[in-house]
Amino acid sequence: MEHVVVVGSSLAGLRACEVLRSGGFAGAITVVGAERHLPYDRPPLSKKFLAGEWDVDQIALRKPDALGELQLTFRLGAGATALDTVRRTITLADGGVEQYDGLVIATGASCRRLPNQPALAGIHELRTLDDAIALRTDLGSRAVPARVVVIGAGFIGLEAAATARRAYGCAVTVLEGLPAPLVRALGPDMGSAIGSIHGDQGVDIRCGVQVATIEGNGTRVSGVRLGDGSLVDADVVLVGIGVVPNTGWLVGSGLELRDGVVCDATLNAGAPGVYAAGDLVRWPNGLFGEEMRVEHWTTASEQGAAAASNLLAVSRGEEATPFETVPFFWSDQFDARIQYLGRGGEHDEVRVVAGSVQDHRFMALYGRNGRLRAALGVSMPKMVMPMRRLLAERATWDDALAFAAERAV
Ligand SMILES: Cc1cc2nc3c(=O)[nH]c(=O)nc-3n(C[C@H](O)[C@H](O)[C@H](O)COP(=O)(O)OP(=O)(O)OC[C@H]3O[C@@H](n4cnc5c(N)ncnc54)[C@H](O)[C@@H]3O)c2cc1C
Repeated sequence: MEHVVVVGSSLAGLRACEVLRSGGFAGAITVVGAERHLPYDRPPLSKKFLAGEWDVDQIALRKPDALGELQLTFRLGAGATALDTVRRTITLADGGVEQYDGLVIATGASCRRLPNQPALAGIHELRTLDDAIALRTDLGSRAVPARVVVIGAGFIGLEAAATARRAYGCAVTVLEGLPAPLVRALGPDMGSAIGSIHGDQGVDIRCGVQVATIEGNGTRVSGVRLGDGSLVDADVVLVGIGVVPNTGWLVGSGLELRDGVVCDATLNAGAPGVYAAGDLVRWPNGLFGEEMRVEHWTTASEQGAAAASNLLAVSRGEEATPFETVPFFWSDQFDARIQYLGRGGEHDEVRVVAGSVQDHRFMALYGRNGRLRAALGVSMPKMVMPMRRLLAERATWDDALAFAAERAV
């Protein structure tokens, strides 16, 4: 293997490059990226960067020296448009072609848009550095705080709502079609518990409402019309209704695409020398016995490393290792640090085992069929993080409850 191409110049792609080098790969590595920026960190985009507390140099994923040592050739600003797994070539938007011996696909995801979303100033999404600069400029350049409407009570929408409220003093309304915030991730009770943190800070969270249209005043947004005909006035609207994996450029490549790139347990994407990592990967996670796609920082980083290590191993005639993980994410909203480990589901039993929901400081466990499936902590890091070991060891529900009870004392 002489030339590895990494498509996607962000977290998963960068981790793949680092592990290729630390694993002894001395050949050429080309990193293809649709954005013009060198790899940067996304979590601060809805938190300290959006608040104006951090600037661009503070969110670089690596310092220039560390990047230099990796000896990468960056091809930025021209995304990949096609993959040919027989000729082993990638075509770029600027007409260039890259020939690869090994390939890591790490093109992540993009924001989902509303059907018929108008093109008005003041309507934002939040995925990239450029999105975050546009939103913080809009929030920060006013004499009077903006009236902000966030469509979608997912993690990024709620983080941005908290930042708009706290850092810019905005009046913030969050509109959610489902019965509670974060229902898909946390279930209705725990989602409502997180929603109450916002309620206490003056954010107006309205669940079970349908957005009909976004309305404008000439060229600028003026409000959001709901299904019942009422209008929520807005100077700024953030559409935060989830993401779609960036797989468009892989259509016609022969790889299986199904809400992501379908991989085997070793993150091989179905062609020789082709691995995938990060938010766009759908793979069977043996630890939980189910296929999943995870949109969290830690998994993207772990998968970048695992994909590179398996690519190297197979190129040397060695066995690839199945990638198994306990999914983990954190989220910062007002003073709450939310941490979630594992994979809960809608039929889980959910039990608060420490602290109290009213105090916004608690831990809840999720269990199903006698097994611990997930743990949620709100501002309880010392309680929740040890649950990772139990999840990795496939602990029973009873053992997990006993373990938590011992620590909660
Ligand atoms: C605002 C925000 C806040 C977040 N906060 C948290 C948090 O608190 N905790 C947490 O666990 N996770 C958080 N996340 C999620 C985390 O950042 C992602 O899981 C992680 O960035 C995924 O990394 P990735 O490399 O798979 O994909 P991405 O970071 O999406 O990177 C993919 C890259 O590929 C590029 N690309 C796309 N198409 C092409 C193409 N055709 N050719 C070349 N390049 C292409 C994209 O431009 C992008 O640069 C947050 C995400 C956002 C957006």
